[in-house]
Amino acid sequence: MNIILLGPPGCGKGTQGELLAARTKILRVSTGELLRDAAGKGTPLGRQAKSYMDQGLLVPDDVIIGLLREVLGSPAAARGVIMDGFPRTVAQAEAVDRLLAERSRKVDQVLLFDVPEDELRRRIMGRAGQAGRADDNLDALRQRLVVYKEQTAPLVDFYRKRGILVPIEAVGSIEEIAERVRVKVGA
Ligand code: ADP
Repeated sequence: MNIILLGPPGCGKGTQGELLAARTKILRVSTGELLRDAAGKGTPLGRQAKSYMDQGLLVPDDVIIGLLREVLGSPAAARGVIMDGFPRTVAQAEAVDRLLAERSRKVDQVLLFDVPEDELRRRIMGRAGQAGRADDNLDALRQRLVVYKEQTAPLVDFYRKRGILVPIEAVGSIEEIAERVRVKVGA
């Protein structure tokens, strides 16, 4: 199973992705986590990515596509991948298709985490108040929402046209949402 988790920052896809991965034993990959890890270690990839991340901007597609080639080609991904935080642009989505097709695989489902805009803003404000990630300040969070709308939201139509978009109502308790995901994925 190759599943994409799609939705704006603050929609809870990271939390639900972890739960889904634990239940299905499918590898979850988060490009955000990989990039933060690389930035923390100061690797060339991390140094390249950090300034974009801190500003709430997307890391350039060529950098991400190189990373995806590595991740999707790894033996750990042979049974499938839960993709959290990618693809985030049409170019990345096309790269995912290409990389999976090279292995005779395809994207099976795209879970779209639906959260009303005012709820997202509330969550983002709450997150900005807590210590944690360098990019969880208000400016970067606002910027990430703008970037989502401009660069990532077009993927909703991209996958809807293909008939694999599965909307998830992502308001409620973590358990309630996990149950909706479980039902939709059939896992
Ligand atoms: P969130 O979903 O809350 O925005 P992520 O951990 O998914 O958090 O991403 C954090 C940051 O990492 C993004 O703002 C961006 O700079 C970078 N990033 C993560 N994944 C990608 C990607 N697929 N393409 C480009 N940039 C990415």
